[in-house]
Amino acid sequence: MCGVFGIYGHPEAANLTYLGLHALQHRGQESAGIVTSDGDQLSSDRGMGHVIDVFPPDHLARLKGQHAIGHVRYSTAGGSFLKNAQPIAVDYARSSVAVAHNGNLTNAEAVREKLEERGSIFQTSSDTETIVHLVALSQQKAPEDRIADALSQVQGAYSLVCLTPDSLIAARDPMGIRPLCLGKMPDSGAYVVASEPSSFDLIDAKYVRDIEPGEMVIIDKQGVRTLRPFGDAPRKSCIFEYVYFSRPDSIIDGVSVYQARKNLGRQLAKLHGVEADVVIPVPDSGVPATIGYAEESKIPFELGLVRSHYVGRTFIEPQQSIRHFGVRLKLNPVGAALEGKRVVVVDDSIVRGTTSRKIVKMLRDAGAKEVHMRISSPPTKWPCYYGIDTPTRGELIASSHSVEEINQYITSDTLAYLPMDAMIESVVNAKTGPAQQARSRLPVLQSEKPLTKDSFCVACWTGEYPIEFTPHPRQRQMRLLDV
Ligand code: AMP
Repeated sequence: MCGVFGIYGHPEAANLTYLGLHALQHRGQESAGIVTSDGDQLSSDRGMGHVIDVFPPDHLARLKGQHAIGHVRYSTAGGSFLKNAQPIAVDYARSSVAVAHNGNLTNAEAVREKLEERGSIFQTSSDTETIVHLVALSQQKAPEDRIADALSQVQGAYSLVCLTPDSLIAARDPMGIRPLCLGKMPDSGAYVVASEPSSFDLIDAKYVRDIEPGEMVIIDKQGVRTLRPFGDAPRKSCIFEYVYFSRPDSIIDGVSVYQARKNLGRQLAKLHGVEADVVIPVPDSGVPATIGYAEESKIPFELGLVRSHYVGRTFIEPQQSIRHFGVRLKLNPVGAALEGKRVVVVDDSIVRGTTSRKIVKMLRDAGAKEVHMRISSPPTKWPCYYGIDTPTRGELIASSHSVEEINQYITSDTLAYLPMDAMIESVVNAKTGPAQQARSRLPVLQSEKPLTKDSFCVACWTGEYPIEFTPHPRQRQMRLLDV
């Protein structure tokens, strides 16, 4: 759960990266960082917290140069510390490189152990640093070859942007697990790369195309080049990006996130309809699915819960305990929409079950007569090893409880999840038309891998992991060091 952004060839590279990161803030709120290049040297600034707090104007003014990359982080490997903030920038024998990474590497610990045996000294506990060491150690000359060499030694999910003094290099893992797309600013001709295309809108950049699974795009003085340095692999894009994580105004790999979520809601209504007076979302991620549910079921959409957007990382809790304090900070019921009503509540997932349980209680306290919980994905039973923050299997309520047991735990009248087939169909059916997908004439080597019903990673529901993951014995040790 991170966001990456990069820009090549714009006099305001740092400012535009700041704005791009701001539009990707939903992908990570723990830390933010920007590295710029003036064509000769890299300058770096990173801090803990939201983009707007990490980069006051004087910090941005110090980041000189026409090229930049940036990162927002939500730690999924390595703890939440400044030293783990990205981009990671280093000088090595020949030059300098900075790397910003979204995704998780599955063999990072094993690679790290080998590197440490050979004398490498790691500064962070983040898996991304292994890539940086491998780049520095590579015997290749050209930066893109060094990066390709490094990436050929790692496994897992990576959507990367790398900055060298005179190039911006973007790469997506062979399965295309996390999103990554390319854009262009029409006036300046500057190229941009980002986790999601919605970040282009704020800076008036035009979406060009998604970076293909297994593709490396090099942007430098010569223009844009594309390479396929890795072996072929089936596409396995994370479907949870559509269900929960990405912004609804993003189009990812040709699929509108908004339309996908509406389809999920429609299917929920078709397959798990129930007599009710209102249907309400758990905001914000549940809103488009609820619109779909309301359209399909003809049950009126109401805003039964209001979300505060101002919950920061730290808050003062009164000493005398307040019931539901944590969840009330984020969500509060609207009595006028709920009193005396039979309510359908739509959310995207149940993880531990604690939020749903509190929401049901809150809705009943606000006067709801019945509460029917509808979830727009199947029961989450397995942790993600590729970059979505999910707790251990033991903490995932659906890994050890049936739907009826979960229904009882969260105290809803009924609970239903969307089946796998319906989820996949909803996303595939949300492919956008050719006009929205307007592709540039930039070359893409080999055939593209269009999304089909077989192109998704669904491991958090099935436990079928497309990339093998055996936790390394050192993983536990690293966590302890972080505490
Ligand atoms: P829980 O209380 O643990 O069951 O959390 C369920 C809520 O967490 C749902 O409202 C989801 O929208 C949200 N959610 C799902 N996946 C994640 C995630 N990886 N990180 C943060 N929130 C999530």
